[in-house]
Amino acid sequence: MATYLTEREARDFAVKKARNGRGIFAKHAFRTGETLFRVMGKLITCDEDDEVDDVTRANTYRYDEDRFLSPAGRLGDFLNHSCAPNAKIVKDGRKLLLKAVRPIEAGEEVVMDYATILAADDVWTMRCRCGTPKCRRTIRSYAAMPPKARAALRAARLIPAYILAIKAW
Ligand SMILES: [Zn+2]
Repeated sequence: MATYLTEREARDFAVKKARNGRGIFAKHAFRTGETLFRVMGKLITCDEDDEVDDVTRANTYRYDEDRFLSPAGRLGDFLNHSCAPNAKIVKDGRKLLLKAVRPIEAGEEVVMDYATILAADDVWTMRCRCGTPKCRRTIRSYAAMPPKARAALRAARLIPAYILAIKAW
């Protein structure tokens, strides 16, 4: 699928080869708390009758109780995971915004912790080789993590309130 970046996204970020596949790289520095970009895409449900393939379904951001935001074809599709992220998702009204959680330098890859956009009823897991000292090796939802990992993530204030509000089935 061709990727469409808005004029502003293309000014701020480059999509290029990263450690694993492609990633998003800052073209200039960003300050802590600054909005990097709005994650754009299509809202889909878990329903089998949704015409979405498995890859698209796996690359979604949890959006609310029963919907996921699929960034297929847009910038958010290239956001890689790190267990020591420099960005996090914040829900602002109906928007999912990616914000810097520490200063980001020009040329640095923008990464988030995928566990922070998995709700308690999401069973998705991923093996991680991010190589950071904090690597948890297996990435799963906050609700499914051991207490120590949960405490660390909670202390870092990385998990959006709307994710914590979604209960397990
Ligand atoms: Zn990791």
